[in-house]
Amino acid sequence: MKTIGLLGGMSWESTVPYYRLINEAVKRRLGGLHSAKLLLHSVDFAEIEALQRTGDWEASGRQLATAARGLEAAGAELLLIGTNTMHKVAPAIEAAIGIPLLHVGDATARAVRSAGIVRVGLLGTRFTMEQDFYIERLASHGLDVLVPPSADREDVHRVIYQELCAGRFEPDSRERFRRVMSDLVARGAQGIILGCTEIGLLVDDGDASVPLFDTTRLHAQAAVETALGD
Ligand code: GLU
Repeated sequence: MKTIGLLGGMSWESTVPYYRLINEAVKRRLGGLHSAKLLLHSVDFAEIEALQRTGDWEASGRQLATAARGLEAAGAELLLIGTNTMHKVAPAIEAAIGIPLLHVGDATARAVRSAGIVRVGLLGTRFTMEQDFYIERLASHGLDVLVPPSADREDVHRVIYQELCAGRFEPDSRERFRRVMSDLVARGAQGIILGCTEIGLLVDDGDASVPLFDTTRLHAQAAVETALGD
């Protein structure tokens, strides 16, 4: 079993499920008392969020690249960035390490394609829904990506930072996410990507009429498959 390196804390609310899902997947595969070999570097999310807000992606890329090098030096054999948004700086991180980076967009797109789906809705932060780094990665797998209209993107973004990353899971917000997803379905989405690692803490399969693709779950699963040599 390879040792997984996880850049976490973005936010820690989603790092907890990453840790649990990775260990559960190892246990399912190997049984008994087996658990994951895993190294976690958990950042102070307030620092990262401030850099996102001011658009200083170079500084956050440098910070995460240093953390990733530390994980490699400590024995990590593959790397996960436990947030969709910070995959914006994946190239800077990848350039700093010699171990493979498992991109969340690749793990997700493969699952969507295996379900026979091409047209997919995407929820995430505004960075993820509005910038090229994420949508283009999905498109490179042949996916046609739909995002909500501007006012809904703003609301989803606000809920992520002000509620989900702060550990608040409000019924009103769940209702609005349901409506946003059903609008995407009405526009032709055959599935919805929960493209932010905290959204799976707010909604689940019963909240939409099409399959949901939870990036935290899919990323954790892909990491275990790689760690166990599939
Ligand atoms: N965890 C979130 C994501 O997957 C948002 C927090 C962040 O900006 O990193 O995009």
